[in-house]
Amino acid sequence: MRIRLTNTLSREKETFVPINEQRVTMYTCGPTVYAPAHIGNARPAVVSDVLVRLLQHVYGRAAVVYATNITDIDDKIISAAVEGGRSISEVSATFANLYRRNLAALGVAAPNHVPHATAHIDDMIDMMKVLEARGHAYPTPSGLLFHVPSDPDYGKLSGRDRDEMIAGARVDVAADKRDPADFSLWKAAKPGEPADAVWDSPWGPGRPGWHIECSAMAKAVLGETIDIHLGGIDLVFPHHENEIAQSECANGAPFANYWLHNGFLSMDAEKMSKSLGNVRTIDELLKHHRGETLRLALLSAHYRQPLDWTDGLIAQSKATLDRLYNALRRMRDADSPGEEIAPPAAFLEAICDDLNTPQALAELSALATEANKAKPADWPRLKAELVSAGALLGLLQADPDDWARGDKDDAARIDALVAERIAARKGKDFARADAIRADLAAEGVEIMDGPDGSTWRRV
Ligand code: AMP
Ligand code: ZN
Repeated sequence: MRIRLTNTLSREKETFVPINEQRVTMYTCGPTVYAPAHIGNARPAVVSDVLVRLLQHVYGRAAVVYATNITDIDDKIISAAVEGGRSISEVSATFANLYRRNLAALGVAAPNHVPHATAHIDDMIDMMKVLEARGHAYPTPSGLLFHVPSDPDYGKLSGRDRDEMIAGARVDVAADKRDPADFSLWKAAKPGEPADAVWDSPWGPGRPGWHIECSAMAKAVLGETIDIHLGGIDLVFPHHENEIAQSECANGAPFANYWLHNGFLSMDAEKMSKSLGNVRTIDELLKHHRGETLRLALLSAHYRQPLDWTDGLIAQSKATLDRLYNALRRMRDADSPGEEIAPPAAFLEAICDDLNTPQALAELSALATEANKAKPADWPRLKAELVSAGALLGLLQADPDDWARGDKDDAARIDALVAERIAARKGKDFARADAIRADLAAEGVEIMDGPDGSTWRRV
């Protein structure tokens, strides 16, 4: 099976060839943990999770090593800590834990490594020492800077010309740059900064810049050269360009062979971002929708395309899952096929083609249509195909009856009707009690009266 991936480095769809089929490595830039993550932040995590599942399918579960970091030291975290009168680690631990729980609810499997930046300061310092020794970095009063003209390959990922690079580097406000494109590796501590935001280094007290964090953590947990590096499209420049410069100049080896970038999630056609204030946090969305519905919504567009997040998209995703689970429910009593059933070829073809999840979902729907028409003799195969294809997308692994029952809003409505029926019976309003039972039966909900009260199930 050939996986094809669009590589930002070459701007082409390439056949994926790992360095070592027994150890396929992948790194995805994780969040800066100073506030609840929004659903846009979940996109790279969910896309990575699907790619990891595919790599595991092709190379074997044990062969894939996936790492995603937590940036737990940063200006925004320091501000949040100072404003809230809390320590840096309190703030970062709160939001790192929330992020982990949110992603688990979206069906994202735990990565093999989740390095936290503050646990790898020594690795960062080691890498910066090498960069300085090799003439790629120089100390200044504001910290250690990377000297961009020292790297002839700089710019190969983003393809930016020098003027654009200088414009992009201006956000890095180091006063004493030798070249306007230079960027910070180590940031000298500023007066008044909390003590837990400061580490010792050969360049004085301070803290690492964001870019060196990923370079050092990726090396520490995966090695000098990794197969796949993923992140949002906003990270191509400067973050990923700088990661490449640091890692390749320090290690003298290629950093990542395949660079994948997901498109942005927008709301009402505007980029979803904390600074614009138009965010939907994962946590808030999970109060109203099931994680699997949100996951399918994220996978409904190709990962490289923009995706507009709307209520209509969520409703449509829920309806798609209802239909898929209903097909599984009809076949619930089918025997296991007695052998391992692979996902259908057309489904695999779609997912191997640069993770074409919209096409893969269309194949799942076609399978459900086929199942709805099929004779019971074909159910064991069709059911197994739906479940194994679903597993590659991280979908359809729940019990179909639980799915039908577990619709949070709907379950609350039915609970309320069942309670109303009990009250009506107590009040001897049998007409109302019977009407509720009949209405619920008409929508496929059966009330079961027992000694401990009434429960319900979908039939
Ligand atoms: P941040 O915490 O802002 O560094 O973002 C963590 C990850 O989420 C990065 O890979 C970003 O590229 C990605 N990201 C942030 N906002 C969005 C968005 N609106 N749509 C898609 N990805 C995003
Ligand atoms: Zn990164």
